[in-house]
Amino acid sequence: MEGLVIRKAGPVLEVFLPEKGKTLLCRARIKLIKRKGPILVGDRVQVRPLSENEGLIESVLPRKSYLPQPAVANVDRAFVVFSYRKPDLQLLALDTLLVAVEAHEVEPVVVFNKVDLLTEEERSALEKTASVYRDAGYEVLLTSAVTGEGLPELQAAMKDRVSVLAGPSGVGKSRLLNALIPGAQLRTGEVSEKTGRGRHTTTETTLLALPGGGFVADTPGFSRVEIGDFLEPEDLRDLFPEFRPFAEQCRFPDCTHLVEPDCAVREAVAKGEIAPFRYDHYRVLFLKLQEARERRYRRRR
Ligand code: GDP
Ligand code: ZN
Repeated sequence: MEGLVIRKAGPVLEVFLPEKGKTLLCRARIKLIKRKGPILVGDRVQVRPLSENEGLIESVLPRKSYLPQPAVANVDRAFVVFSYRKPDLQLLALDTLLVAVEAHEVEPVVVFNKVDLLTEEERSALEKTASVYRDAGYEVLLTSAVTGEGLPELQAAMKDRVSVLAGPSGVGKSRLLNALIPGAQLRTGEVSEKTGRGRHTTTETTLLALPGGGFVADTPGFSRVEIGDFLEPEDLRDLFPEFRPFAEQCRFPDCTHLVEPDCAVREAVAKGEIAPFRYDHYRVLFLKLQEARERRYRRRR
């Protein structure tokens, strides 16, 4: 019977069985762990029920993706949460997170929270920014954990999927989670790092069942992320989705869109077909990744 690992406590894995609508506490066959390494929260597994509430994991289905922060396999969507005010919107940080999420084969969704705080002008400025991201191909939601605006849409976007909330501290991730699942507590990454010395068992990420279907991690992802740890500068051009149709028309197939002649991406920026701030962030991140690479080389010499 197929199931989803939603919690780990030492060697014991809690597995949700959709067919039965309940969970079993399972152990895995030792042979399986030796061959495949540890089983993760988010793994899809084949379970043989042993009793009313216990089972044995017989195999792990191939992993589609792995997000290191939080450590969850097969995450479908990362909801990248920012606020326009309190704290102020930081578009470079947003673009960095979008790149980081997509680099891990997880679909990002942009969430602008705290819209209840906005004046009319601020609201229309935010709408303009939101449409830049929509035109680039991202799904964008405007929410307020206080008034409930946008929460049905957020719930719908999470339905029947495995999701994580990502984004800087203070933007409302905990409160959004609590609005989705009353009583749920978002665990901060800092806490698990500090207590990570001794007993790990209590600090593992747990997948929480959403009332409307689907699961969401109780640990936020990528509050701060160093993209140089897993990306090369050349990876970046595929991670700005609105560049893709233009990039095909650049003179050089490996165009970095920085200095080459006949660059269709730069032409699109000049014509206003690509938002200038997005292109600026591409350049900033490209240079950052180049520096990260140079630092690595210097260290090796
Ligand atoms: P986190 O660090 O991202 O988990 O942020 P929190 O959920 O702890 O929220 C930070 C602060 O913003 C808290 O005081 C929340 O009550 C407040 N907050 C969260 N969401 C909203 C919202 O939609 N509107 C307003 N006005 N405040 C919010
Ligand atoms: Zn180009």
